[in-house]
Amino acid sequence: MSGNSTIEKLVIVGSGPAGWTAAIYAARANLNPLVFPGRGEGKDLVPGGQLMLTTDVENYPGFPKGIMGPEMMQLFYQQAMRFGTRVVTDDGVKTLDQLSNDTLYQIFQNARELDLSKRPFNIVGDGGYECQAQAVIIATGAKANWLNLENEQRLAQTGGGVSACAVCDGALPMFRDTELAVVGGGDSAIEEASYLTKFASKVYLIHRRNELRASKIMQQRALDNPKLEVLWNTTVIDVLGDEKISGVRLKDTQNGAEREIPIHGLFLAIGHTPITQFLNGQLDLDSAGYVKLTDPGRSFTSVEGVFTAGDVADHVYRQAVTAAGMGCKAAIDAERWLAEKGID
Ligand code: NAP
Repeated sequence: MSGNSTIEKLVIVGSGPAGWTAAIYAARANLNPLVFPGRGEGKDLVPGGQLMLTTDVENYPGFPKGIMGPEMMQLFYQQAMRFGTRVVTDDGVKTLDQLSNDTLYQIFQNARELDLSKRPFNIVGDGGYECQAQAVIIATGAKANWLNLENEQRLAQTGGGVSACAVCDGALPMFRDTELAVVGGGDSAIEEASYLTKFASKVYLIHRRNELRASKIMQQRALDNPKLEVLWNTTVIDVLGDEKISGVRLKDTQNGAEREIPIHGLFLAIGHTPITQFLNGQLDLDSAGYVKLTDPGRSFTSVEGVFTAGDVADHVYRQAVTAAGMGCKAAIDAERWLAEKGID
């Protein structure tokens, strides 16, 4: 399907807190925003960003009792749609009234190709939908990193007990009362390892150095936990097991000695990579691949008319509330920029 004749005022790429907040503000400003929510990263291909892979969110203001991440993203989505946001599905562009249900469990298109060389910008979805846009907000977030070992990938893809998200998968029956391992030494690794000790008999935290990167308070939490053992100066060089993981092969980063330990689950917590590859070098990025803000504190990028928000442009805070705040800023910046250009 092609929508070549359509020139949108504002296209938003991404469906996490940044994307939907931008949509809420843009819809309420009568910009009639069109969102490419994407297909999601999980097994079930659910869009909605990293919060779809989280359990309790206890630090988002306004939810004193906490809220589950996926439930919060449904609410963001429904709020954006209520004000007239449209989404690109595999079945074309839809408003809330035209969708069969109001959940994020739908087949939405990713924005596969963007041509930012001239305005209006051209955008092609991975399901074939094509449109043009006067302004674009990039809010595609960041995704989990892997060690990229052959057996790690094989077992991760077949439900064999290897995961990059302890909070999504850790409570599965297969991990109960077994020995598990988390790789990494940052806050995420400690948070995930601590979480897993609720279910596991023991959790190894495998870290490549002799010092954790995590904040002091998180470190103390880990070191005080009797079910958690840190394996210092250690890397995973292979994942063992046919259908299910049975252990990992480790290497001492100091003396090169190798050994194996039996475990029944492996969780990677070694950072994230911003989703900017699809931009094909058309926007200035920093050395880690995050979109560069040309005016810190605002949402402008190196291309006029292209704005950004959320984790794709923020490796420092990476919180739902900061991403939402950035989404709001991007929508307001886009609205003012469109008005200045006389595009209404
Ligand atoms: P991170 O701080 O970048 O830590 C990544 C960890 O993975 C580091 O310890 C790193 O080792 C290790 N690592 C990276 N690549 C590796 C590889 N190939 N093999 C083995 N180990 C590898 O990432 P993060 O923990 O996801 O945290 C990201 C940001 O979110 C941070 O700013 C963090 O403070 C924040 N955060 C906060 C909370 C909280 O406050 N509750 C929770 C989660 C995250 P090295 O240390 O040797 O580099």
